[in-house]
Amino acid sequence: MNSTSANTLAHFVNGTLVAGESGRWGDVFDPATGDITARVPLASQQETARAIAAAAAAFPKWAETPPLHRARIMFKFKALIEQHADELSTLISSEHGKVFSDAKGELIRGLEVVEFVCGIPQLLKGEFAEQIGNGIDSWSMRQPLGVCAGITPFNFPAMVPMWMFPVAIASGNTFVLKPSERDPSTALRLAELLHEAGLPPGVFNVVNGDKEAVDTLLTDPRVAAVSFVGSTPVAEYIYATGAAHGKRVQALGGAKNHMVVLPDADMDQTVDNLVGAAYGSAGERCMAISVAVAVGEIADELVKRLAERARSLKIGPGTNPEAEMGPLVTRTHYDKVKGFVDLGVAEGAELVVDGRGFKLAKHEKGFFLGGCLFDKVLPAMRIYKEEIFGPVLCVVRVPDFDAAVELVNAHEFGNGTAIFTRNGNAAREFARRIQVGMVGINVPIPVPMAFHSFGGWKRSLFGDHSVHGPEGVRFYTKLKTVTARWPSGMASGNTFVMPTN
Ligand code: NAD
Repeated sequence: MNSTSANTLAHFVNGTLVAGESGRWGDVFDPATGDITARVPLASQQETARAIAAAAAAFPKWAETPPLHRARIMFKFKALIEQHADELSTLISSEHGKVFSDAKGELIRGLEVVEFVCGIPQLLKGEFAEQIGNGIDSWSMRQPLGVCAGITPFNFPAMVPMWMFPVAIASGNTFVLKPSERDPSTALRLAELLHEAGLPPGVFNVVNGDKEAVDTLLTDPRVAAVSFVGSTPVAEYIYATGAAHGKRVQALGGAKNHMVVLPDADMDQTVDNLVGAAYGSAGERCMAISVAVAVGEIADELVKRLAERARSLKIGPGTNPEAEMGPLVTRTHYDKVKGFVDLGVAEGAELVVDGRGFKLAKHEKGFFLGGCLFDKVLPAMRIYKEEIFGPVLCVVRVPDFDAAVELVNAHEFGNGTAIFTRNGNAAREFARRIQVGMVGINVPIPVPMAFHSFGGWKRSLFGDHSVHGPEGVRFYTKLKTVTARWPSGMASGNTFVMPTN
């Protein structure tokens, strides 16, 4: 059975595709046409438990597999992703709606995590201290946790799962992925490629589903750790429920990313970067810029130039190589984003560019919304406070640098932010004072590379560890420290006190 040619999708458990049994299904759409292209099974508690059982059974042998051998499978997986890059990118675009070049971009960012964990023998090396006491040495090692679960959002169907499972698996864990039910096919295809690369059955499993599958992963005692990426209310629930069931949890949530534009910024560079960061992927990126903070006298010029660009965005289906922005993921999400634009008008913000009337010929049923630009947005407005997750950019005007920093720091989210300026000292101060996990200096979307770690602050991340990079390896392993003494022939006598040196 091929996971992608059939309209009825499956799960992937113990090295093979498994048909859904629950009788519950979700619809998968082509967002450019509005057509239902597939139905995805929504797993029952029992089906999810079977995937966990497969992962638990595979764990002891996989954990014993030398890291070098695990790395070799990752090298083969890397080659297969490269070989199938166009096919995977088309799959991403067909269910998510983002343009093909952007889909390929997210695949490559995921691939970079696979490349990072090809060096897992080096990453798992512990520390050794000789002669910590007379005749005593001590060393540390990092060991896998067991079965790890990943629960992922719709907006990066390849990259976000690949933030998680390559690191978990290369570190010696087994994995159950519950991808978004909106665009599940990419995860199934990645599972097939992993097995083609030589991964033993049960090490990586995909369970499609909704809250029932998620709740099973959160409460089953065989799951040791849960990685989540999605909206903040769900992230908070995942963190609280997983932790209450004794699991290690990292739960990444929503965002409202501000770009601060100082009056001395290079205007051409700023506008180019801001337009791409606000409207790329139809604003459905957790690192999208959704607030432009115009400092001082630059505001009028900035809004004028942004408006010109927002009005002339090239919008089209993901298959159109000319398109800069595709449709939103579903009709429900379209209605939510459009509702926020209505709300902003009602709240009194100035809607400079109104994309609500946008229609694309021959795609009348697609979920296309034109770029929207609000000026004179105030911090008390809901369009400022809440995550919209669509092609809607809000401009907030502030008098000076300090007011900009205060504004960003007061927001409940702290995922990403950026400053555009030519002033090195202002940029340095911004990076030091800002209460946000990922900061760009003349870089609009500062997503850390695979060998760094990705994670926000405040209500954008629940838990202690960011994903991938060194933080990811720490999350998926536990530390053990050994203190050793070998008999030397000298009696040490009874010891009743704390040893000291
Ligand atoms: P979502 O929270 O609706 O869904 C994420 C996952 O949780 C899905 O797999 C879904 O099936 C599951 N889920 C949804 N509701 C649930 C519930 N009540 N109980 C248990 N599980 C549930 O998010 P989404 O709409 O798919 O993705 C968009 C969101 O993800 C945005 O808020 C965006 O900012 C966020 N996001 C954050 C990051 C980050 O790195 N911080 C990255 C990507 C996306």
